[in-house]
Amino acid sequence: MPEIEPYFNLDDIEELKRFLEFNDTDIRTLTNLHQYLKKDPSFFVDQFYSHLLKFEFSKSLIPDEVTLRRLKKTQSRYFALLTSGEYGEAYLRNRFQVGRAHQQIGLEPRWYIGAYRKYLSLLIPQISDYLKADGDECLQTVQSILKVVFLDIAIAMETYVDKNRETMTRRTAQLSALNKVAVTVNATLGINETLNEVMKCAMDIVRAQASAIVLFDAESRCFTDKYTMGLSRHFVKNMNFRRGGLADDVFNNNQYILSNDLPGTQHPLSELARQEKISSFVCLPLVSHKRRLGVQYLYFHHRQELFDDEYALLGTLSHIATGAIGNAHLHSRAVTLSMTDELTNLFNRREFMVRLEQDMLRSRRSNKPFSLIMADIDHFKDINDSYGHTTGDRLLTELAQIFMNITRDIDIVARYGGDEFIFLLPGIPGDVAFQIAERIRRSVEQLQLHANKQKSFYVSISMGISCFPKGAQDENSLIENADKALYVAKNNGRNQTAIFSAIPKEKNKE
Ligand code: GH3
Ligand code: MG
Repeated sequence: MPEIEPYFNLDDIEELKRFLEFNDTDIRTLTNLHQYLKKDPSFFVDQFYSHLLKFEFSKSLIPDEVTLRRLKKTQSRYFALLTSGEYGEAYLRNRFQVGRAHQQIGLEPRWYIGAYRKYLSLLIPQISDYLKADGDECLQTVQSILKVVFLDIAIAMETYVDKNRETMTRRTAQLSALNKVAVTVNATLGINETLNEVMKCAMDIVRAQASAIVLFDAESRCFTDKYTMGLSRHFVKNMNFRRGGLADDVFNNNQYILSNDLPGTQHPLSELARQEKISSFVCLPLVSHKRRLGVQYLYFHHRQELFDDEYALLGTLSHIATGAIGNAHLHSRAVTLSMTDELTNLFNRREFMVRLEQDMLRSRRSNKPFSLIMADIDHFKDINDSYGHTTGDRLLTELAQIFMNITRDIDIVARYGGDEFIFLLPGIPGDVAFQIAERIRRSVEQLQLHANKQKSFYVSISMGISCFPKGAQDENSLIENADKALYVAKNNGRNQTAIFSAIPKEKNKE
């Protein structure tokens, strides 16, 4: 159980004492009474417990003789304390703890107050008995005992209120964290932001120190992508997900697993977790419509178990998380699809135009050149006709692969359409672009394709280059010029590169 912060305010209780008019006379009176009561200490507890044992609620708290004996002993001590004459901070703190203990074992306030009624009913006749000769002293003693009893009840009730206050505060914080994550994950579609938000929220809800979400790849049937928060690099690097391990168990049973080092635990902590100062962790399944999406971990430094209400909230969070992961996947797939060519996985023409526009702006600002290369397969129609469309498709993907391998990360390669490809080479002037184009052309020349086991063939490509800012000033003219250069290359016999070097007429006039 997590430590509950005790709420104890000495000033408030001292003020309460004053309000109850608890004074030195009371202390003296109670000390006197103590002398009488000491003579027969078991009188109270025996009768008190025989009363308690008549009722189901209290009987359930006293399951056997051993408990009864133990409780009687504690109770005698407590009854003695009530009249001990010491009502300073130690006494008040002790009463606060006793109230808290009663509240924790589930004793409702009404029974707590009711038990005091029994105590007073037993005590007052005794007082009357001891002090029958002195009516005033008898009255004063009853008054004093009532004050100390009310003081005690008031302190105990504070612990109940305090507990409720704390539960409410925790619930409010948990629900607002949940609300926040629901709103955020609805507003974001990126998987990173989504999972970070889910981890942050889960950590808030259960006051965990770290978290991880590991996604499951349905194709390879392995846990692949790790997203973590609050874990050391060493831990993250060494986390492993072997077949039949804890994460698999979580999936197979679709149920959380708690790992700690408590006696009798079924899932003791790993050495790696202990090194990370983790005292327990919980692993929860993320499953949507029976599809395994991944698992989420929450790591704790200072607690071993979770409350039921925390598991319930984490369950709700898992639902939100799985929905969000599904959406993020769909979104990123839709984004990829809208940007790329399905056959070659290169950018499509539309995405290329977007990138070209951005790059042109950047180059204008930085005053740097860039080159555009348009490439077209030579006699592709004949290849399709001779070896079939499927072989033609395979050629397109193999060429895409060559283009990606030869170019730099910052270069943009796209399928412009049909058997046409287009390259954008930032920072590259025309002469260098020519050398690059030639390198690409020679690589393609060497590519041997197998139409089937018997037949293989070679292909070639022709290329046209245009440059910014030398060759053209806007996107469309740049593409047009590259196309013109390509046309020249084709006309000159194919399998070659041509560069567009004509300066637009308008420019000449300036
Ligand atoms: P040239 O040397 O003049 O370029 O001759 P070519 O035969 O390559 O002529 P062109 O570039 O005009 O022909 C393009 C051909 O590419 C026509 C079309 O059937 C084929 N094609 C276009 N898209 C695809 C595709 O996705 N797969 C396959 N297999 N063929 C395609
Ligand atoms: Mg062609």
